[in-house]
Amino acid sequence: MSDGVVRPDPESEAELAFEGALRPSSLEEFVGQQKVRRQLQLLLEAASLQNRSPDHILLAGPPGLGKTTLAMIVAHEGERPLRMTSGPAIQHAGDLAAVLSSLVPGEVLFVDEIHRMARSAEEMLYLAMEDFRVDIMVGKGAGATSIPLELAPFTLVGATTRSGLLPNPLRDRFGFTAHLEFYEPEELLRVITRAAALLRFDIGQDALTEISGRSRGTPRIANRLLRRVRDFALVNGGPADRDAVKAALELYDVDERGLDRLDRAVLTAIVDRFAGGPVGLSTLAVSVGEEAETIEAVVEPFLVRTGLLSRTPRGRVATPRAWQHLGRRPEPTVLDDL
Ligand code: ADP
Repeated sequence: MSDGVVRPDPESEAELAFEGALRPSSLEEFVGQQKVRRQLQLLLEAASLQNRSPDHILLAGPPGLGKTTLAMIVAHEGERPLRMTSGPAIQHAGDLAAVLSSLVPGEVLFVDEIHRMARSAEEMLYLAMEDFRVDIMVGKGAGATSIPLELAPFTLVGATTRSGLLPNPLRDRFGFTAHLEFYEPEELLRVITRAAALLRFDIGQDALTEISGRSRGTPRIANRLLRRVRDFALVNGGPADRDAVKAALELYDVDERGLDRLDRAVLTAIVDRFAGGPVGLSTLAVSVGEEAETIEAVVEPFLVRTGLLSRTPRGRVATPRAWQHLGRRPEPTVLDDL
């Protein structure tokens, strides 16, 4: 990721500890996503009344909207142990078999980025999800045999930023799929008001409102910007007011709409190098030096949602609003096209 501050290395220990400290641990504390919360509540209560593991759950949506947090809540509310892994860590069916066979009854298995799991493991997972059973292959070639292995009942919580990449047989085996939406500024305001209280950070209401409007509809970003503003106020010694927010976010290249450097790089490339588009995803990715997957899963959803970018069958197009945001005038042909 080109912007190491707003979306820092997720492995950074300080960032992980910070996120952990601010994670809500119950559905009640979880802000927004009201429909999903009610649906999950029902699913968990029904399972608990019937004394069984909740159905498998798929959580889909852009990074930072609360998928990991919800998985933790599912385990916490049901007082179940939680095992966490991720698609890229499961490169062979054997990796998955090792995890599945060591689950205790009722355990919640969280698989982040489940769309990146190896194909062979996916196939093993179908059977495991449906029958709590896997077939382990022993030996190779003509002498290979498969040994069935019973598993403890478990609840799979899968998270994906790319639900379209999941094969249908896998998608169909989830009892419930939640599509997480970007948050409204008022909801983000609640997220960071709570975070500021937990951090004992004395910050004005105006300043919190300013941060929540610039957080790309994403709680993770809202919490991180809050932290940057806290650093700024600490180092500069002034009050944490709206001016401090503006100065801090300018320093970190976050603009009034909350777009960061990569968001603007994408829009600028479409406008300047491709006359507003349409331009194909891979060409666009090369021209900003990013992975196509990052552009598609991280950058585009927010630009589309805020009406700055549209996806057309011929490629990505910058909307007149995007030209305006960058301070340019659309060429007449662009306006005609839209
Ligand atoms: P994802 O797994 O979707 O990338 P996370 O669950 O890791 O996102 O959320 C990132 C951070 O944002 C968490 O540390 C949590 O503190 C915060 N967060 C996410 N959703 C909410 C929410 N609905 N209410 C409060 N905080 C949230």
